[in-house]
Amino acid sequence: MIPAAFDYVAPTSVADALAALAEAGDDAKVLAGGQSLLPILRMRLNAPEKVIDLGRIEELRGIREDGDHLVIGAMTTYTEALASDLVRDHATVLHEAIKEVADPQIRRRGTLGGALVHADPAGDVGAPALALDTEFVVTGPGGERTVAAADFFADLFETAVGDGELLTSIRIPKHTGWGGHYEKFVRVSHQWSIVAVAATVRVEGGSIAEARIGLTNMGSTPLRASAVEAALVGAAATDEAVRTACAAAAEGTNPPSDLNGSSDYRRALAPVLTRRAVLAAAGG
Ligand SMILES: Cc1cc2nc3c(=O)[nH]c(=O)nc-3n(C[C@H](O)[C@H](O)[C@H](O)COP(=O)(O)OP(=O)(O)OC[C@H]3O[C@@H](n4cnc5c(N)ncnc54)[C@H](O)[C@@H]3O)c2cc1C
Repeated sequence: MIPAAFDYVAPTSVADALAALAEAGDDAKVLAGGQSLLPILRMRLNAPEKVIDLGRIEELRGIREDGDHLVIGAMTTYTEALASDLVRDHATVLHEAIKEVADPQIRRRGTLGGALVHADPAGDVGAPALALDTEFVVTGPGGERTVAAADFFADLFETAVGDGELLTSIRIPKHTGWGGHYEKFVRVSHQWSIVAVAATVRVEGGSIAEARIGLTNMGSTPLRASAVEAALVGAAATDEAVRTACAAAAEGTNPPSDLNGSSDYRRALAPVLTRRAVLAAAGG
């Protein structure tokens, strides 16, 4: 299908994009990589009067170090993040998750900012962002504010980014020396996650010293498996000890039932995938 007609602007600065958003009000939609927005427009699930393309705003791109944080611009593509040694070395679990997103064409166009604001519960970058305690930098007419990961994902397809605001960057505390793994369960390759688990762990002397676990598609937002994180601390990095610690992975979740699997099926998958993710992260 062909989208309904809309006006198109392509500002070259965040300030101009915010001005365009303010001018258009509710009738505007921001375009990043277009991999989620364009299908929505083509199916006419949304028909904005104005589309504001962020693609020419250089200040929204790139990956850099800022002390003990990595700063990633919202318009950085999956492909750029995958090619980054900084992301691989300091945010390994995110790097591993990006490898599992869709296919090379979509990774070349799709952006981290677009994916995080779109907030599809089956999307692959929300859970690692949550596990890494990412800070989200949101810019609006009143200036910049920083939102903690725990407060960013509000509900299904809903985040803390308000009308008239942009996600401009994310700040990830460096997890240097931590292992990371993303265990994605799908029926066929390149599918959206039925369930997936992002695990990042720090191993010391054969035991798990620290662990952070994010769950994909186990509720309307990405979730932290806090009970598992607590149980893993001090556990030996062995199959038996990790299996025991991961038994509670579905605790506090509310997974959907759909054609790919029932809610109970997802609850049964979560401990299995969490064990695999933690063991892989601990060995890496
Ligand atoms: C066939 C197919 C398969 C896919 N498979 C997967 C998969 O396996 N795993 C996965 O994780 N994803 C998958 N995706 C989704 C893909 O990751 C998208 O790229 C991503 O969800 C959206 O990123 P985008 O840059 O394309 O954003 P867009 O589509 O341009 O925008 C998405 C939404 O975010 C808003 N937005 C974008 N950037 C900003 C910003 N900086 N500030 C405020 N609002 C903003 C837009 O207005 C829009 O509402 C798939 C997509 C397709 C088409």
